[in-house]
Amino acid sequence: MSLYSGPVFEMAQTQFHTIADYIGIKADERDRLLLPKRAIAVSCPVRMDDGSVKVFQGYRVQHHLTLGPTKGGTRFSTSLDMGEVAALAVWMSWKCALAELPYGGAKGGVAIDPNAISKRELEAVSRRYMQEMIPFVGPHTDVMAPDMGTNEQVMAWFMDTYSMYQGRTVTEIVTGKPVASGGTAGRREATGRGVAFLVARAMQTIGLAASGATAIVQGFGNVGAIAAHELGQMGVRIVGVSDHTVAYYDPKGFDPEMLNAHVAQHGTLLGYSQQSIIDPAALLIQRCDILVPAAVERVITAANAGQLKCRILAEGANGPTTPEADGILDQHRDRIFIIPDILCNSGGVIVSYFEWVQDLQQFFWSETEVTDKLKTLLNRTYSKVLARAERDNVSNRTAAMAIGVEKVRDAKRLRGLFP
Ligand code: GLU
Repeated sequence: MSLYSGPVFEMAQTQFHTIADYIGIKADERDRLLLPKRAIAVSCPVRMDDGSVKVFQGYRVQHHLTLGPTKGGTRFSTSLDMGEVAALAVWMSWKCALAELPYGGAKGGVAIDPNAISKRELEAVSRRYMQEMIPFVGPHTDVMAPDMGTNEQVMAWFMDTYSMYQGRTVTEIVTGKPVASGGTAGRREATGRGVAFLVARAMQTIGLAASGATAIVQGFGNVGAIAAHELGQMGVRIVGVSDHTVAYYDPKGFDPEMLNAHVAQHGTLLGYSQQSIIDPAALLIQRCDILVPAAVERVITAANAGQLKCRILAEGANGPTTPEADGILDQHRDRIFIIPDILCNSGGVIVSYFEWVQDLQQFFWSETEVTDKLKTLLNRTYSKVLARAERDNVSNRTAAMAIGVEKVRDAKRLRGLFP
């Protein structure tokens, strides 16, 4: 167990046991469902621009192989370790199962700050990481995608590296690629679009009109920036926004397009405004209708959960809410409506699935087809989660996770234990 030790894996474990208690999974079945099937650690030696060689630690965890290949993103972040990667892989499993995608969960990455290295160094790290992973991945084994700190360009390098070793172009080895190299229309926007679409559904559920509603978006990467844009299009006023450099709050609201233009030019939100700067921790507890944590894990904790003043908590990030915070939020279920992460941010992996299918078939869809299919699937999943929550009088998170865990448990039971 020590291989995965750390607060993030402990969190995934605690959540799992809560669900296992609720749906009555016996002790002897729990480890089989929770513990990752495979965990791979690699050392990636990279020649830096100054001529020196640095070795970066890379990871990949493949949680279960019961339903098909594993699927999940690749994270480049300084503090990455095996425990965090394993937790994220476990969450990917419940997420894929909830949306009925034929995948187990995976996650991987490199312990590196992608903003502190040159583009050439980033390419070298990306290519070396994929090269080290070649024995363990494949279009029918494990399919990578972007996550925090990686993007379409990194996916293009991954695809190219894998393809060069195979001697042919294998676009289906990763998803989230640029459209020009086998990606699908609508993948880059998918996660943020999904978040906004589900927020719209939640607003219908609780009877909140979009026009005049307010939102705070924590994290302005691929998920937060697109969610802010889409919410803005719906008539929602973005009153707070932050990234890893700065946080802003202004009840009059920000123009998402201007924020995006600033980030496109300067790389971060820093320098956008002098008047509206706020402490990043204080941003989360400002009054708003919709709070979208779209950055890292464990930002809604026992310390701030009781102070949230939102009506909808839309979890764009993976694991933003700790189990302790969940306990507190559960007492305010009638006041704060939670769209749990494995539902809220599932638009990304859903469109990754569409990309994989298109690559396997070499038959491509229009952006409208992709987005329509995405909305249909999200709609169905949202209804399933709400029906289950209502039926059993449990939180939306418990309902969503239970549906995911049950699907994996049932598949394992039916396949039986080999040999
Ligand atoms: N990294 C994203 C997630 O956490 C996307 C994974 C994928 O598309 O495979 O859901």
